[in-house]
Amino acid sequence: MEANSTQSAKSSSDAIQIRRSAKAKRLRLAVKPGLIELVVPRGMAESHALAFLDKHKAWAEGKLLELNDKLSRVRPVESFTACPTIPWRGKDIPLFVQEGSRGRVKITVDETVQIMLPQGLGEARDEVALRAFYAWVCRWLRVRVALLAERHALRCNLHHREIRIKHMKTRWGSCGPRNDININWLLALAPESVLEYVVIHELCHIAERNHSPAFWSLVGKHYPKYAEERRWLKFHGGDLMRRFNI
Ligand SMILES: [Zn+2]
Repeated sequence: MEANSTQSAKSSSDAIQIRRSAKAKRLRLAVKPGLIELVVPRGMAESHALAFLDKHKAWAEGKLLELNDKLSRVRPVESFTACPTIPWRGKDIPLFVQEGSRGRVKITVDETVQIMLPQGLGEARDEVALRAFYAWVCRWLRVRVALLAERHALRCNLHHREIRIKHMKTRWGSCGPRNDININWLLALAPESVLEYVVIHELCHIAERNHSPAFWSLVGKHYPKYAEERRWLKFHGGDLMRRFNI
């Protein structure tokens, strides 16, 4: 685990913070929503870090403005249960939330998403509904991904081990060193073709552990129109991750 200490930089900008890191090998500026973070390897002289900050501050502030502007254009969702619709396999479908079930949350997904909640949840209502939806989606998607992976594993001769569906903050999938495949739960909300592409992408990592030209040519061999699905993720993926940031 990384041991950190955070302090505000001696700077005119409140948005800049310095973080000492035992793990960091070099100085680095990270731009996050509302914040510029200067990551300083432990033991490095503060004067050196501040000189680096001075040199790159204008660049980072420009990036922060860009990021804040981008985020302000994303429609914030204050309440999961108040959303009239929800994306499901690439299409917005109506969301109905009702109260009245005894004890457990019940979820049905067909042409609509219906969530039946126990009564009296109060402020926890939103979180309980979203958590239950997440758990339901993980179970549903695991079966779906297993079918896709099995079909393509045979065809491509790329054999995986376990499949795990989980919340991933910045990635759509990953393939572990022992060929376990992890898939981001939000892909159940994306079109089926996008899910299929990510499954094939991760299967191809069994043969090619990087994103080299050889890797992309393997993906292209097994899924020729992958550029389209990558474009979909580029345009819509960030919104999904921000909106359903559980
Ligand atoms: Zn990859």
